[in-house]
Amino acid sequence: MTGWGSWWKSLVAMLFPHRCPGCGRDGGVERHWCEECLPRDLWLAARTHITTGAVPLVMLFAYRGPVKELLHRGKFHGDRGALLWLAAALAQMAPAINDLWPAAGWFDRPAVAVPVPLAAERLRQRGYNQVELIFRRWLAANRTEWRPAIDRSADTLPQYKLSGHAERRRNVRGCFRVTDRPALAGQHVLLVDDVVTSGATVSECVEVLQRAGVKKISGLALCTARPQDYR
Ligand SMILES: [Zn+2]
Repeated sequence: MTGWGSWWKSLVAMLFPHRCPGCGRDGGVERHWCEECLPRDLWLAARTHITTGAVPLVMLFAYRGPVKELLHRGKFHGDRGALLWLAAALAQMAPAINDLWPAAGWFDRPAVAVPVPLAAERLRQRGYNQVELIFRRWLAANRTEWRPAIDRSADTLPQYKLSGHAERRRNVRGCFRVTDRPALAGQHVLLVDDVVTSGATVSECVEVLQRAGVKKISGLALCTARPQDYR
């Protein structure tokens, strides 16, 4: 029944884009999650994980339910509207997200946000970086500048095709490079990503940012694929 339920919910959300993606209830003219779904189904007390280099990484949602469906449609079916629903979730939860900052050690707000980059080839195929569509509205509201300052070489496998932290870490080792050092040097940088699984990609990006002379790094991901691994 659950399978049909989630299939039905996503069909409803596709046919009526301004209905709450969690339950299909009328969400009005603007994209707006209903007051029940965001806190009940989506908001997982955020997980903070300390990555390589003692960087706090906050992950907002579990990779499941409507968040997973929307992200999947946005990444693999060219559905930008699905990503705008995720942006709407962040905008609605902004006060709660801001409350997490001090707990994660973010006493000063990051000046610059840098996305974990897609391989150039994947970016060309998709035509957009889903991380940008999800986070930009929220970042603009926080006056954090969007700066895609890390490049990724194309010869890596998608991390979800690999298992285990060590294998994933090897896959991304040496494939990132900072392209805009002057914009980042001496700044508090927020590294943003969509899904964190083993944290290998984030750790690799943290290392290249540290080598580029940034003052401080914080991490923010829309969701974690393994909430049980993180506190
Ligand atoms: Zn709802």
